[in-house]
Amino acid sequence: MKGNRIPLAGVIGAPVAHSRSPRLHGYWLAKNGIAGHYIPLEVASADLETAFATLPKLGFVGANVTIPHKEAVLNFADVVSDRAAIMGAANTIVFQSNGKVHADNTDGYGFMENLRSGAPGWDPAVGPAAVIGAGGAARAVIWALLDAGVPQIRLTNRTRARSDALRDAFGARIEVIEWVQAGNAIDGAALVVNTTSLGMTGAPELRIPLDAIDDSMVVTDLVYTPLDTPLLRLARERGATVVDGLGMLLHQAVPGFERWFGFRPVVDAEARAAVLAP
Ligand code: NAP
Repeated sequence: MKGNRIPLAGVIGAPVAHSRSPRLHGYWLAKNGIAGHYIPLEVASADLETAFATLPKLGFVGANVTIPHKEAVLNFADVVSDRAAIMGAANTIVFQSNGKVHADNTDGYGFMENLRSGAPGWDPAVGPAAVIGAGGAARAVIWALLDAGVPQIRLTNRTRARSDALRDAFGARIEVIEWVQAGNAIDGAALVVNTTSLGMTGAPELRIPLDAIDDSMVVTDLVYTPLDTPLLRLARERGATVVDGLGMLLHQAVPGFERWFGFRPVVDAEARAAVLAP
């Protein structure tokens, strides 16, 4: 705590009411007896600059940033971490005591921590990864997989130009596979990652050939509503190791909480339950 001020943090987005982050950070604050608050902050794009100038003066030590501000927020940062720069987006902001705004992206970190804890036997070097989808989340996943040492990423997306852009950004370890041949991306992969919104409640199903999924594979889905997506159900039936997407949300929150409140929180079953509570 700075002086008598109780540190404040929040999640900046529009809309932001659906965000589960306030539950998670609120749970960690209460559980660990930390003086602090974390609240949803609905900020329109036109007001983002004003928000960044004002929040530190009100006692905010930082914030998470979500849709639609993850890219625009880089314009208001004084210091951008290497991983946020390569992802072209930030999700974790620190208002430093020297007045500078620091922007980082912990989505890739959260993805990898979730994968490592859910599939401890998975060795990044063992074989190619199939990444389905080439949106913002895919960028974080690809960064994390390459950083971990995955030898090859087979990338398939409905809109080919977005896959090509990621190949241009990340280089030759990315092999672009046409959407109509998405089944080939999965065949022989060691890891399969769905980064599309397909399979989410209210969205269409992921309709690509999944027959190549077998018990040697790890299959994970970034979609976490529902927790058990049709992809994960099918993969489990085929004996694959499955990792759901909620852990990514929990793990990506850890570095921000630690920087704002000076305590590294633990991702455990209770934290999951706190986020899932109706
Ligand atoms: P995004 O940038 O809007 O990308 C959406 C992706 O889904 C694109 O690859 C898009 O393909 C694909 N897609 C959407 N509708 C499709 C359809 N009808 N047919 C084929 N492909 C379709 O979104 P994002 O930020 O990457 O997020 C993607 C998903 O990841 C969301 O469900 C989000 O909730 C989830 N997510 C989870 C976490 C977590 O912590 N677990 C973190 C971040 C994101 P096109 O390029 O062809 O449009």
